[in-house]
Order: sequence, then structure tokens, then C-alpha cells
Amino acid sequence: MVIISDERMIDDELMMVDVMGWMSPKTTSSYIVYGRETGIFDPGGRTSGEGIIKRLNELKISGEQFINFFVSHRHADHSAGAAYLVKRLKNGIIHAHPITIANILDPDRINRATVEMYGNMGEIIESVSSEFLHSITEPNKIDLGRGHVIEVINTPGHTSDHLMYYDQKNGFLFLGDGAGLFSPETGIPLPNSFPPSFRYDEYRNSLLRIMSYEPKIIGFSHFGCVKGDDVKRILELSLNILDDWYTIAMENERLTAVQTIFEKYYDDLRLFSPDFRNQIMNIIAEGFMRNLKK
Ligand SMILES: [Zn+2]
Repeated sequence: MVIISDERMIDDELMMVDVMGWMSPKTTSSYIVYGRETGIFDPGGRTSGEGIIKRLNELKISGEQFINFFVSHRHADHSAGAAYLVKRLKNGIIHAHPITIANILDPDRINRATVEMYGNMGEIIESVSSEFLHSITEPNKIDLGRGHVIEVINTPGHTSDHLMYYDQKNGFLFLGDGAGLFSPETGIPLPNSFPPSFRYDEYRNSLLRIMSYEPKIIGFSHFGCVKGDDVKRILELSLNILDDWYTIAMENERLTAVQTIFEKYYDDLRLFSPDFRNQIMNIIAEGFMRNLKK
């Protein structure tokens, strides 16, 4: 089984970085593509951005190199790190869906929602001026040089503005939050069904679509990377678990369904501290039901 859960080079020009999301190791992974220009996928929240600034030399990113930040969606644990970094490095750009870009330009509303949901654990997005921002949707490709052409894939479901990015050179697909909350320890991807934005049908269709790309490497935001034959298996598992949650939702009333999912899948979730794990498990089970059972 090829599951990568430690920071390291995945191939000669692709690195997985543990960006210490929520100031904890092994919760949030970012990925760096070394083309002629640099590509960084979702460098975590604001505190992750601070850590990356300190580590730029170790990560072999020089001040002269142009950095393309590829952001998957508007949530602060994905977009706030990029906002922090692009403001300070001043030699790069953020690519994201127009809704994500609007939130980075004017983050007040999403910052309030983040604090409401996570309290002190929530991270704030700093506003970035438009010269550092680039709206993209499908179809679109960004050429980083050395053969790394990054294809944009519209993958709504976790949120309406969710994008994934596919590197045609090495078959690397950056999943963001679109294919599960993955615990490398158990090898289980649970539905990333946070309320209020989760849409079951869209999430499922997006999963089916990316499976048709037959990627060779998949990178989860939370957490870790899968390579080789296991890619297909893990994506299928993600779909099967999603379908199982759907069955549970259809066969039970709301509270029982939430409880059933919690009891059946709690041990599969090994991300985050045990306290936070409880909270996350409740949030995703509730989020799933909220979309299916009005
Ligand atoms: Zn998210």
C-alpha cells in the first residue's frame, strides 16, 4: 500500500509538505510542484503561511521564483495561507474559482462564519488586492514549464466553488477537500460533508468525474498522498462510503442516522486531536444529513 504520510519528495519535481494545519502535525498537507515556475497547492491556513515563510530555503523556493498558488476553495484552512504568502512574497499569484477570489478580496463575511463554527481554532483570511488574484474555472490550464501543465477541474460538492488541479506530466491530482477526509493510518476517506455548503449529488458526480482521469498520484488536503495502484482503490472506497452514508440517511430518521454514522465510522477518523475529532465527526455527519433531510 503506497500511502505517504510524512513530508517528502513524491517524485523528482513534486513534494508533499506538512503545513501544520490548526498548529498540529499530520492534519493538513500541501503540495509543491517544481516547474520553471513554482506551483503550491493550498498551503493551509494563516499560521501555516507563517511557517512556510520561515522554511522557504529548506523548501528550495527562492525569492526570484514566481509562485502560482492553486487554491481549491474558499474555506480559510485552504485559502488563508495562500493569501498570507502572496501578500508577503510579492512575486506570485493566487489562482482560484471566482467565488473563492471574491472571498479573498473581501473576507469579512467568511471570517465571521469561520469563527462562529470553530471558535479560536478558526483562522482568519487577510484581504489581498486584485493584482495578486486570478479567477479561473474549467476549461483552463496553467503552464508552469518543464512539462507541468496544470488543468483546472470544476468539482463542486464540498463547496460550490471547489476546484481540483491535475498535473498532466506526472498524473498528480490535487483533491483539496473534494474526495474525503483521509486518515493515512486507517486508509479510510470519509465524506467531506461540512455544512452548510455540502451537496451530496454534486460531490458524488465530482468523484465519478475525477475517477475517469485515472490519476497516478492523489493528494488530499487532510491528510496525505496516495500513489500507484492504491489510487483507484481509495477513490472507489471514498465513493462506497459516501453511498453507505446515503443508505443510512435514507433508512433512518435524522438523529438516528447521525448517531449510526458516528458509531460506525468514528474509529476510521484518526486526524486531529481526540477532542477535535469528536467535533469534526459530528459536524460532517450533521452536514451530510442537513443536505439530504430538510
Ligand atoms: Zn473545506
